[in-house]
Amino acid sequence: MPDPEAVSLLARAASAPPACLLCGSKESRVHLVGRDRLFARPGAFTVRRCAGCGLRFLWPRPELGSIEELYPSSYFEEGTPHHGRLAKPADRKAEGGLAGLKWRIDCAVLRRLGYARQEFAPPDRLSSLLEPTRRHKLRHKVVPARGALRMLEVGCGNGAFLYRHQALGWEAWGVELSRGEAERARAAGLNVQSGRIEDANLPRGHFDLIVLLHVLEHLDDPAEVLRELAPLLAPGGQILIEVPNGESLGSRWWGTWWFALELPRHFWHFSVRDLERLAERSELRVARWLTRHGGDWHQRSFDFWLEDQRWLPDSVRRSQLGRRLRLEKRLRWIVRALARGRRGDALRAWLEPVRGGGEAPCA
Ligand SMILES: [Zn+2]
Repeated sequence: MPDPEAVSLLARAASAPPACLLCGSKESRVHLVGRDRLFARPGAFTVRRCAGCGLRFLWPRPELGSIEELYPSSYFEEGTPHHGRLAKPADRKAEGGLAGLKWRIDCAVLRRLGYARQEFAPPDRLSSLLEPTRRHKLRHKVVPARGALRMLEVGCGNGAFLYRHQALGWEAWGVELSRGEAERARAAGLNVQSGRIEDANLPRGHFDLIVLLHVLEHLDDPAEVLRELAPLLAPGGQILIEVPNGESLGSRWWGTWWFALELPRHFWHFSVRDLERLAERSELRVARWLTRHGGDWHQRSFDFWLEDQRWLPDSVRRSQLGRRLRLEKRLRWIVRALARGRRGDALRAWLEPVRGGGEAPCA
């Protein structure tokens, strides 16, 4: 009997790719073909590249009915790349020694980001001096304080990001498609609704920050979702987006083995120019953007590559050598240095309404 998921993909394969989401062109060519390397769903998946604007997109895409099939129940399990650990900054509070110093340095970074909580260690000279050493790491986990501290996270999973920010004084709201993850977030005391963003009950003009971390690339129509979100922003509010960078050095090096391809769950592989065009279509604009190191994506890509080296013994191919050797941690300075500017693994952009004023786009 044929696999039902393969059949639903074939149903779409019969139709031509749709007009480009960003430029409307109907011309595209095959960019690469890959497999589901994380959950081994059957079949080969094709990423096409728009001839008009260069947007890379998955086609054929899974039918909506098979979306649950794409996200197995183990998707968010501990040890998977999608699992978030519920922890707030104060959890690492320690009295003395090296751990205590690290905590005092983190307090200095958090103060610089606009937070001044009672439970923070008081400022001291040594931690202020060493503050730049932790700034980079913490700045990717904690957003700077903004407005009246009202945050909405779309696709919040078990609420790890919201939990951290609620502890820093944010009023935290979340929406999550997975019922199980939304339930976990609510059990942790977070205000999280389960279901699609289009059906959620959310106040308009309320949020200083709306966050979508590795969500946009999973959506059928990301422009439509951004248009739904824009009216929820308070004056001066911004939408923070993070997606894998379609123009990263990693995607160029590893090709079909690049971890962040995540086929067939990633429908779009955005560059910063694509995000700018997407924002325009939703009456938003990119106020600021940066790229950053993904953490362990290169060693995971190395392990995907290793798996395909059929000349090697099975024991080596399946050994997850990259992860066992912690290859990326050893080489992270090289990876970071090479993937500067536009070439980092993940792309982070702050969007704001076109009529909302604010900073000019910058690199
Ligand atoms: Zn296009």
